[in-house]
Amino acid sequence: MSDIFCKIIAGEIPAEKIAETADWIAIHDIHPKAPVHVLVIPKQHVELQDIDPALAGALLVGVREVARKLEIDKSGFRVMINHGEHGGQEVSHLHLHLLGGKKL
Ligand code: 5GP
Repeated sequence: MSDIFCKIIAGEIPAEKIAETADWIAIHDIHPKAPVHVLVIPKQHVELQDIDPALAGALLVGVREVARKLEIDKSGFRVMINHGEHGGQEVSHLHLHLLGGKKL
């Protein structure tokens, strides 16, 4: 699969990386909907229905770590997954939105 996030992960398309582990990368959303709008994206091309529970946990811990790094952990934040057509998913590669930096 070669969606836009696979290309970013492969280094074929540039993105501002905030953090990275063996399992995921965190990048700033190109069209931010809040002062902080980060995408935490598994490196493996996967959708929600196929995800391994260990990877799901790693992504959630990733969100927590990125929130700490960007210092929005104390003020609070929102985590969101758009899934499928009715969920408004645009990129077919699982990703978690981390939104914060103001009262939502
Ligand atoms: P979805 O609706 O699929 O959950 O959201 C996809 C998100 O990816 C959108 O918020 C969109 O702004 C973001 N996005 C799409 N293409 C790119 C890109 O090339 N780079 C970055 N950093 N974000 C992107």
